[in-house]
Amino acid sequence: MKRIDQMYVNGQFVTPHGTETFDLISPVTNEKTGEVVLGDETDTRLAIAAAKEAFKTFRKTTVEERMAYLQQLHDAVSKREDELVKVMVEEYGGTLQFCKASVKNAMDSFTNMIQVLRNFEFEKPVGESRVRLESLGVVGIITPWNASNSFICNKFATAVAAGCTVVVKPSEMSAAQTQLLLECFHEAGLPKGVFNLVNGLGAVVGAELTSHPDIAKISFTGSTITGKSIAKGAVETMKRVTLELGGKSPNIILDDADLEKAIPMAVFGAYMNSGQACIAPTRLLVPENKLEAVNALAKLAVQQVQVGDPMDANTHVGPLVSVRQFERVQDYIQLGQEEGAELLAGGTGKPEGLESGNFVKATIFTNVRNHMRIAQEEIFGPVLSIIPYKTEEEAIAIANDTSYGLAAYISSADSEHANRVAAQIDAGRVMINAFKHDPLAPFGGFKQSGIGREYGVYGLETYLEPKTILE
Ligand code: NAD
Repeated sequence: MKRIDQMYVNGQFVTPHGTETFDLISPVTNEKTGEVVLGDETDTRLAIAAAKEAFKTFRKTTVEERMAYLQQLHDAVSKREDELVKVMVEEYGGTLQFCKASVKNAMDSFTNMIQVLRNFEFEKPVGESRVRLESLGVVGIITPWNASNSFICNKFATAVAAGCTVVVKPSEMSAAQTQLLLECFHEAGLPKGVFNLVNGLGAVVGAELTSHPDIAKISFTGSTITGKSIAKGAVETMKRVTLELGGKSPNIILDDADLEKAIPMAVFGAYMNSGQACIAPTRLLVPENKLEAVNALAKLAVQQVQVGDPMDANTHVGPLVSVRQFERVQDYIQLGQEEGAELLAGGTGKPEGLESGNFVKATIFTNVRNHMRIAQEEIFGPVLSIIPYKTEEEAIAIANDTSYGLAAYISSADSEHANRVAAQIDAGRVMINAFKHDPLAPFGGFKQSGIGREYGVYGLETYLEPKTILE
């Protein structure tokens, strides 16, 4: 039984002042595997004070020094790649395929930021002035459970590149993954106080970070509802915020698309990260006159989707992270049927032989109408909604008829055609005939999917404050 009873402040592992504990539960067996001691407001204030002190000198580091720190972080994290994958699969239940990619993204965050720094100008002439981009200060980093270490690494890498110091509050459900990452960061040997971490609840540690006057910015990834409460709290001290929130991404199959290719891709894509992905294409928009063919191909594809042991390299969909998440997804599957959508595959209940964990059947609804709650709300599980459209105009209108705007996908045989449609979609990232990640291009949402962008130059600029100098 693991007991995680240390946080990380001022370059040291320390015992928290908080004494409450949170149980760590295996998503595969639902048995307790350990517990984490939760930090409190006192712990958070200590961590903020350490980061504030460290910022005084860290802001003065040269670009070359920061590049060297980023390389040290990359090397220290890379050394433990296999262990990081293993603990992620065990604690979170993500599939081996997904966790390998996620840990690779985490490692690459540091080298990507080195690449960005090579060409970045911290000072440039504008008008008659010189504009200096100054380090913002102490950044509060708050992350969810669905790719925990990757979010922490990306945000921390950007902070280091900008000369900022950080206090991280990860999801309490990711404590074992975080502990291993902490060991890597400790080994990287950065100046003390640059990185600090407090395990704890959102309403306690997260809220303290949000309200504390010595935090200059919150970089948050998580649900839209929590993001709104952070934005409201942050405005009191005029903190900068970057909010990476939820999504309900459309996947538009244009009338010239090769269905035999596009539909299996759409089905597997919807189940990325077992459906617990903010960018999952969960609304599949198809020409009405091709609905029958689409249904047949989707049914064939879903039969190939393997739900099961996340450690098995062939598994596509693992268990959901918690019983709570499982129940939430079950409620949506029930709701879809009540709303009148046709169940094409899956449904409520657990797949045979997988009763002990939080496993959900790979589910597809067809003939879904976009006003239905299953088409509007983020389900965050392996549930795909097929929505028919009559004209391309209507497809674009349906795609944009959502409060979200994180990602969108388009399938077409003609690149110009796809690009014409892409220009009319309100989403931060549009992928044409592909499911790709570009870690140097900006990532973030339109509308209620967030505020600001992460990654690359756009991400770095959000950790900097422009100062105009006139003489
Ligand atoms: P969540 O919003 O419940 O929690 C995220 C983090 O916020 C956790 O660390 C939590 O403890 C903390 N938190 C909760 N209440 C808080 C408060 N009042 N003040 C400060 N912090 C608080 O999200 P989750 O359930 O952990 O993750 C799933 C959500 O994350 C989904 O909605 C998903 O779409 C979103 N997400 C978005 C992106 C993106 O890049 N846009 C990526 C991954 C996940």
